[in-house]
Amino acid sequence: MSGSSKKLPRRPKKSEVAPENLCNFCNGKCCRYFAIPIDKPTNYEEFDDVRWYLYHERTSVFVEDGSWFIIVHNSCNALDENNRCRDYAIRPQICRNYSTSKCEYDDLFLFEQYFETPEQIEEYANAILGPRPGDSFRTPKPSRNLPLL
Ligand code: SF4
Ligand code: SF4
Repeated sequence: MSGSSKKLPRRPKKSEVAPENLCNFCNGKCCRYFAIPIDKPTNYEEFDDVRWYLYHERTSVFVEDGSWFIIVHNSCNALDENNRCRDYAIRPQICRNYSTSKCEYDDLFLFEQYFETPEQIEEYANAILGPRPGDSFRTPKPSRNLPLL
């Protein structure tokens, strides 16, 4: 098998780049998701809401410093092919408030807790709340027999 021996340039560490130039070395990491705080679930009804979030594609839930967040891994439509904001002049205030000084350029996204699937959050709820109350929360599958017209 043939292959190129050309090495890709090393991506500099955040500490090696002037803050005003950092975005030149980034793929627009902060524009490829959004995260919103959510209430910490304390009972099965609230855990079921979190379970519902996690049934959706590209959605996770994380906990940091005791606070719960939903994170949607979905790129902003204003991000252009050069990883720059094509609507920079009119970008939302939340983007204006953000700066390279506190950004996640070289963060590894390690959180206190991170849930990616409905099964993970159900298992966690079981661990801290005990078994779900009631006989079972399962319902029978709906019949697939369609009525004849
Ligand atoms: S602010 Fe940070 S994370 Fe966002 S594009 Fe610039 S370097 Fe990347
Ligand atoms: S509007 Fe611009 S700065 Fe804000 S998330 Fe989208 S691409 Fe990034």
